Amino acid sequence: MKSIKTRLVFRVLSILFILFIVTQILEYTTFRVININNAESQSRVIAQLIQNTLTMLMEFGKINERHIFLENIQSRNGNIKEIRVIRGENVIKQYGPGFEDEKPKTPEERKVLETGIPYTRLDETFEKVEYVYIQPYRAIPIGKIDCLKCHDVKAGDILGAVYIRTDLTTTRNLAFSNLIQITFISLLTFIFTGFIIYRFFKPYTEFFSKLKTGLLQAREGNFSSSVEINTEDEAQELASVYNETMKNLSRTLNDIEEKASFLISGNLKKTGNILNDTTEIIENLVDIYRFKRIVEKDSSKEDIYTRLRELMRKMEITKYSIYEVDYKNNRLIDIDESAKWCKDPVFNDSDECRVKRTGSEVISEDFSCLCPNFIECNDEGGKTEHYYICIPIYVAGKVGIILQLVYTEEEKEKIKAKLPYIESYIKEVAPVLEAKTFMERLKEQSYIDQLTGLYNRRFLEEILPKLTKQVLRRNSTLGILMIDIDNFKQINDSYGHDAGDEVLSRIGELLKRSVRESDYVVRYGGEEFMVILVDIQKNTSRDVAEKIRKIIENTYITAGGQEITPTVSIGTAEFPEDSEDIYQVIKFADIALYRAKKDGKNRVVRFRKELLKNGD
Ligand code: GH3
Ligand code: MG
Ligand code: MG
Repeated sequence: MKSIKTRLVFRVLSILFILFIVTQILEYTTFRVININNAESQSRVIAQLIQNTLTMLMEFGKINERHIFLENIQSRNGNIKEIRVIRGENVIKQYGPGFEDEKPKTPEERKVLETGIPYTRLDETFEKVEYVYIQPYRAIPIGKIDCLKCHDVKAGDILGAVYIRTDLTTTRNLAFSNLIQITFISLLTFIFTGFIIYRFFKPYTEFFSKLKTGLLQAREGNFSSSVEINTEDEAQELASVYNETMKNLSRTLNDIEEKASFLISGNLKKTGNILNDTTEIIENLVDIYRFKRIVEKDSSKEDIYTRLRELMRKMEITKYSIYEVDYKNNRLIDIDESAKWCKDPVFNDSDECRVKRTGSEVISEDFSCLCPNFIECNDEGGKTEHYYICIPIYVAGKVGIILQLVYTEEEKEKIKAKLPYIESYIKEVAPVLEAKTFMERLKEQSYIDQLTGLYNRRFLEEILPKLTKQVLRRNSTLGILMIDIDNFKQINDSYGHDAGDEVLSRIGELLKRSVRESDYVVRYGGEEFMVILVDIQKNTSRDVAEKIRKIIENTYITAGGQEITPTVSIGTAEFPEDSEDIYQVIKFADIALYRAKKDGKNRVVRFRKELLKNGD
């Protein structure tokens, strides 16, 4: 790309050059025409003079001395190289051929003598320029001088001609030297003009180049450039507007970037392009804000885990795990059950997890086996194939959730650039997660009976619809045991209410220990319990109930300083064998319990249809 300065100098010099050429051509042609005209008029005057003089010499009888006259004229006009008088036929006829040089020599001379038309010719060669003029000489009386006096011709007849050869070489050389002088002066003018333009435009072109550099830097997010020009014109105004704009842009963007970066946790990886960096930060902030709004509307912790998974997808992180710390059982739960990146110990003892234990982020970049429970770590503790970052998410002041990112050497830079954003997402999400966890705990608590720690009837209402559906789908059986402590009123009466409570609590524990973990033990009311046996074989509820009855019968319970051996009566029914309506099944179990009481307590009765007929 050519600069403005070059283009301008080139154009002005082109115009000057054309002007110079045209002027030179014009000058040369004018010079030439003038010189030819001069030569012609000089020749004509001399020819006429010769004609008149010869006539006079004729009259005075001195015609034989004509050569002296002709040589005289020639010598007085330095540029005239040859003058000849040529005799026409009429004169030759009357006076003879005359001198040798007076004979017509060339066809042109003869033609002039024949036609009476003057002849001119310019002989131009490299060495010389000559102008030839041949003028006819007619017998015409001029005043008192009458040709016809001596010549035996008619008026107007051609007597001869005058040949004049003029040398114009000096004139041409003069023209050429003139041309050279003008060329030289023009050349000087060219150089001077070029220099003036160059000098004039130098500050502008430098200004343009600085503007260009500054704007290119601005495009890359660098607004630090400024431009200077002291021309006291529009360019200077432009420079000050430019500088002010750059300063404002730089200040504003730095301000925005600084404030926006403040909202993102961790060390942001900056490219130095403030435009791109700020855009990226703002875009992420908007995304984080949206993310938070969505998470706030999520109803459960599970929804939030789904959001975290979506976030990972969005961040293009493929290798990761989400763990929840189960404080009750002191272990880690792998939410996605992928269990790809941690060894078993963390799932048995949460303190095996370094993040949970230390409460701060674990980054493996410097020490591959910073956490020996990373799946790729062995006893030798060598370098692992993957790096890992484990981020704690605090819930109720404790590490509640752990987000583990796993990446290769190639993914390292990408992950590190994304880390501050991920941490910001987590920072925003943590309080929401905390609130959700509290809510879930609260909800869980409202399902728990305070005295025994068993589920209460509200829980039953919550669980039964789901449970029955699952059982029907699995084509399995639920056993319902209705358990009532025998003569409990007496226990209360004999040992006091607190002892009664103690007995209730202990029996609750016994019940819980007597059944599988997947079974549900519910305090149904007062001294009544319900046990839901999940996935039993048909008609086995009676056996389980019998086992429970025996365990209780054989257990001494210390309450109120006394050893008590309470007994229980149990009624059992099965879903869906006895009825496809679970509430009906519960009712049947109750009827069976009533029967057990009636039959003498401390016994198990399996519901059967006949019980209905018996008026139970
Ligand atoms: P049965 O063998 O026929 O079941 O006789 P029972 O005495 O066990 O039955 P009853 O329904 O006559 O009495 C139940 C008693 O349980 C009455 C009530 O005061 C007592 N009770 C209910 N809830 C609690 C409780 O939370 N704590 C204590 N200590 N007693 C309770
Ligand atoms: Mg009762
Ligand atoms: Mg009772």
